[in-house]
Amino acid sequence: MLVILSGVSGAGKDTIKKEIIKRMDNVISLPSFTSRNPREGEEEGVQYHFITREEFIERIKNDEFYEYDLHHNNYYGTSRKLMNEKIASGKIIIKDIEVNGTENLLKQLHNETKLVPIFLKVDREELKRRLINRGDNLTEEEMELRLGRLEYEESKIGLYDYVIKNDDLEKTVQIIMTIIENELRIEESKK
Ligand code: 5GP
Repeated sequence: MLVILSGVSGAGKDTIKKEIIKRMDNVISLPSFTSRNPREGEEEGVQYHFITREEFIERIKNDEFYEYDLHHNNYYGTSRKLMNEKIASGKIIIKDIEVNGTENLLKQLHNETKLVPIFLKVDREELKRRLINRGDNLTEEEMELRLGRLEYEESKIGLYDYVIKNDDLEKTVQIIMTIIENELRIEESKK
């Protein structure tokens, strides 16, 4: 099973993902590949494998990604090899992916594994506050880019089975854990 978390940067996806992995034994993460630079505190291979733009383009040519997207001028992608290994392990994967990547994965993987796409909504003012507090030191232009993305991402909300307004971390974590447990039960009942 692959649980996909989407929503603009700053919607809280990373914190929620970490919390769920901590609390549920059968849930694991799947690092993406990216050409962006690591943020402070980010370690290679945990949330991301950090590679150069050239290397990323080479991997695209070699068809190494299930999907990839150019997002805020950086590439992000899901490795076929890593994804297949993790699916084969039988664990539940939780991964944050933006909307274009989700659309592509839904097309490609729906026959191979159960997909549970979840969209996290956050309102514009709250997002602005979070982006300022996160300490990325975004320029005004970068901030506008991120806020502008909100509308685009929300226009794709129809792709998702679940939409959650993330205004309370604990509540959101509890809801997602319940969704995962219910989806597992449904899968079991089909066997
Ligand atoms: P950030 O730079 O804030 O870590 O991530 C920017 C965006 O890239 C987020 O919306 C995140 O969900 C998305 N992202 C992370 N990994 C992937 C991936 O493998 N594929 C795609 N398409 N988007 C990703």
